[in-house]
Amino acid sequence: MSAEGDEDQGGRPVRLTVLGKSPSWQDAGGACSGYLIEEGGTTLLMDCGNGVFGKLRERMDYVDLDAAVISHLHADHWLDLVPYSYALTYAPRQQPVPVHTWPGTDTPARPRLIAPRGAGETFRRVVGAWGNDDLIEHAFALEEYQRGDTVEIGPISATFHPVPHFIDTFAINLSSNGNKITYGADSRPGDELVEVARDADLLLVEATLPRPERTGIRGHMTPEEAGDHAKRAGVRRVVITHISDELGDEWAREQAERGFGAPVEVARAGATYEV
Ligand SMILES: [Zn+2]
Ligand SMILES: [Zn+2]
Repeated sequence: MSAEGDEDQGGRPVRLTVLGKSPSWQDAGGACSGYLIEEGGTTLLMDCGNGVFGKLRERMDYVDLDAAVISHLHADHWLDLVPYSYALTYAPRQQPVPVHTWPGTDTPARPRLIAPRGAGETFRRVVGAWGNDDLIEHAFALEEYQRGDTVEIGPISATFHPVPHFIDTFAINLSSNGNKITYGADSRPGDELVEVARDADLLLVEATLPRPERTGIRGHMTPEEAGDHAKRAGVRRVVITHISDELGDEWAREQAERGFGAPVEVARAGATYEV
């Protein structure tokens, strides 16, 4: 639940809660990428992969979300926008009621959905497969961003920076009160991520692979590579994520610490980090 009424100013932390940290298939009982960001009464969902909507509901009322922000259009980063949209459309309290019939009835919630350019077309193609073309755009107020754009969500500024992956993908910098959180999205090794994460207070970075891709075509990183990128970026704190429960947290942590040269945390569902 967002901290409504918390008006305490100055040094107020930004809180990041891991809703899902799995790669493109869920951990047992887990969810794919999804991170809840809270500052005061502002709530932001960063990515909404499969399984995330149920995890979000354990934490807050989904109609109160201010914005969902999507890093890229792979299924494990947005697929639960589908059940989320059904809830926003068909939940009884979301049914529009003529105001003259029920005075004081609130209009249905329609959170912002901030997604890469082309997202609307992708969403329509997927949900259009069963004839629900405008499901997601009807449920959410869609805004498409481009590289370098800055978007304000309450006191939080989000900026979007391309990182190399299999499709157009954007690392997201969140800044508020002079604090910086970098979410690296999915990325193969490269200077792009180092530049984006420069001097971040917290870097949330993928560490998907037990070893570099056997095909030779890179799209993700190993934990050691993730730690090395964090070191080169000079970040204060590192959380590695997008890791299967089949890989082993301890192994991943050791590898990441070898790259970073200092302690590293491994994302766990439900864990909260304050910056
Ligand atoms: Zn991806
Ligand atoms: Zn992914």
